[in-house]
Amino acid sequence: MTLPFRLALAAVLLLPGAAARAAEPVLSRPLLVEVKEVPAADQQKGGRFDYSDYNRQALLSLVRNRALLLATAEEFAALQRDGYQATVVMESRDPLTLYRRAYYGPTLKLPEVYHTYDQINARADDLMRQCPRLITRIQIGETTQFHRPIYAYRISSDARHALPRPGVLYTGCHHSDEVMGAEIVTALMQDLVLGYGRDPAVTRWLDQCEVYVVPVVNVDGHDIVTSGRDPRWRKNARDVNGDGVTGVFPEGVDVNRGYDFNWAMGGSDVPAKDTYRGPYPFSEAENRAIRHLLELKSFVLSISYHSQGEVIYYPWSWNGQPAPDDALIREIADQMAAKLVTMDGNGHYAVSPGGASSQSYVWLYGRKGDFDFIVETGKGTHLFAPEDVPGIIATNLEGAKVLLDRAGGPGLAVHVTDAVTGRPLVAQVWLPRIENESVDRRTTEGGFGRYWRPLRPGQYDLIISCPGYQTAVRNGTEVKPGAWTPLEVALIPAK
Ligand SMILES: [Zn+2]
Repeated sequence: MTLPFRLALAAVLLLPGAAARAAEPVLSRPLLVEVKEVPAADQQKGGRFDYSDYNRQALLSLVRNRALLLATAEEFAALQRDGYQATVVMESRDPLTLYRRAYYGPTLKLPEVYHTYDQINARADDLMRQCPRLITRIQIGETTQFHRPIYAYRISSDARHALPRPGVLYTGCHHSDEVMGAEIVTALMQDLVLGYGRDPAVTRWLDQCEVYVVPVVNVDGHDIVTSGRDPRWRKNARDVNGDGVTGVFPEGVDVNRGYDFNWAMGGSDVPAKDTYRGPYPFSEAENRAIRHLLELKSFVLSISYHSQGEVIYYPWSWNGQPAPDDALIREIADQMAAKLVTMDGNGHYAVSPGGASSQSYVWLYGRKGDFDFIVETGKGTHLFAPEDVPGIIATNLEGAKVLLDRAGGPGLAVHVTDAVTGRPLVAQVWLPRIENESVDRRTTEGGFGRYWRPLRPGQYDLIISCPGYQTAVRNGTEVKPGAWTPLEVALIPAK
């Protein structure tokens, strides 16, 4: 027994968490290999360096024409023999060291262009001190494993109070390794707060709507990535097997598979999988935090930020059927895509319907009537090099602002009250020619009796109902172009 081997064995026996760490698959590929000048033909499906192979297991990243991959000595020799510009960046028997080198770069730590959750909240603290009228912090929950607070921030011309205005929501980091989302949402928060009273568009948006941001949904996982522990960490930190060890593959639950909309059809029921959906819908506190936020505020439009792919996924394609609002949703997605420039500067983000199961965007649309879009930022990795970060943020800020414009209409601004007392009502507002059984009925916000319904200009039939009141029918209601068309509905109490 050689000395290094005995030391390694001792480490396995003594280190806390060693038992779980041994569950990490034995690394058969000890070389981190860089391939430069990957030919364009190779970067397509079926090629040797294929974006669809980008899987955190073998091909680690493929940004522009530079690939990083794990390889055996034989595979490396074959690459050289086949004429690729391949070099060994690092050799190690410890997989985490290779992943750190591949994703964090030479320092093996997250580059400073990215921010920890503490730094993000400290930036919000600064904004709240500078502009206390414009931004308010709301704790919407705490994390599953470590009970860290999960914060939303409300931004408006008077954020000290909840206002009867259309809501727009931006969330980052359901998947904690996709840290770009937190950066974009944080930059947007800052742009809006500091732009009020200076930038006419920002001033108009904050005068007309309420913006909520959740920079990091999966706070525990984000800490695993930003602390330098593991750049691949996607799920939350739940100790699934209960061994007292967290943050070690393959633990955790995919919090973007935990929502109660076709939950059982989404993700995996195998805990070791990247898409493990947990034991039941809303089993994870991160999902319950977002559900709690939706109890405080209804949203008209929203974005859930992810990486990677340079694509906007919208709800939905389900058993070959589009969403009831497909035409309008796609129109908005196309408007966003027109603002979202790809990293190579030559094109725009693609637009595609996504599946209709268990993820945030289908729950937000299907259950809550919020047009939510997944924006997959950047391409070829989930942790971008520092020089690529400002450009990805800048173009995504332009995309985000499309929703703020659309939150000004057109559509119906419905206000439902009790005809006798004038009291606002929580009422169902149903558009029977649009909303089929694939979506829940939409309701007015409690407290204000308001509901903003994005629609193209035209004529619509509505049925407005509330227990204890006579149902109202408004056939042929006209939606005007441009801004919201107000619709006052006073419901008469049933006898
Ligand atoms: Zn994701």
